[in-house]
Amino acid sequence: MNTTPTPLIAGNWKMNGLAASLAEARALAEALAAEPARGRVALCPPATLIDRMSRELADSAVELGGQDCRAEISGAFTGDVAAEMLADAGAKLVILGHSERRAGYGETDAVVAAKVEAALRAGLEPIVCVGETLEERRAGRAVEVVSGQVRGSLPESLTDKAFSVAYEPVWAIGSGLTPTVAEIEEVHGAVRRTLVERFGEAGARVPILYGGSVKPSNAAEILHAADVGGALVGGASLKAADFLGIVRAL
Ligand code: PEP
Repeated sequence: MNTTPTPLIAGNWKMNGLAASLAEARALAEALAAEPARGRVALCPPATLIDRMSRELADSAVELGGQDCRAEISGAFTGDVAAEMLADAGAKLVILGHSERRAGYGETDAVVAAKVEAALRAGLEPIVCVGETLEERRAGRAVEVVSGQVRGSLPESLTDKAFSVAYEPVWAIGSGLTPTVAEIEEVHGAVRRTLVERFGEAGARVPILYGGSVKPSNAAEILHAADVGGALVGGASLKAADFLGIVRAL
């Protein structure tokens, strides 16, 4: 059985992007139509752009995702977005448990797990983020913290479902800093063991993305490291040319 997961490069636009930014998505789609990627490529724009971007990308190889969802299906939750709404707008994936949400909105592993259940209910493929802080790494606790987040954030219902885990050291996000390849491989190896403990053979096929200051100049080294099954890219996904530089490194 082939246990190599299909790699995924996903762009997280965070709170960036207006109608004019759709041109970047279009440029990405055109470039990939001319020369297909050696894996899956996704963009996760702000919720306001998903519907319009899904029309732009209708016949393209670029998949679309949201950046978060609420666990509930509907209700009095001003400003929040349900998984069903993302799917209705054209999303196929959703980023969950990003460190900016864990830190800024107090999202615990249990909250992230509930959001994963919501994503599955809506037919979305979750990208579940985990990662240690600088203090945790300095205390030698990176593997313990990340393994604990993987156990706590991934509900049993993911068994046999398509999903990925993104290892994003908090200190590497938007900072220009990246762990060494050896450090990435150490944590990805621990995530893989935890996935196999939890999901058996299927755990060997879950893509484990790396995220944190990935750019065209460091992408090849990171993407070819052991157990790295793609990347979650923030800043460098906003411009098609930069994002393509990463996609081409696959
Ligand atoms: C992210 O926020 O998921 C991320 C990886 O950001 P950046 O690539 O900008 O570090």
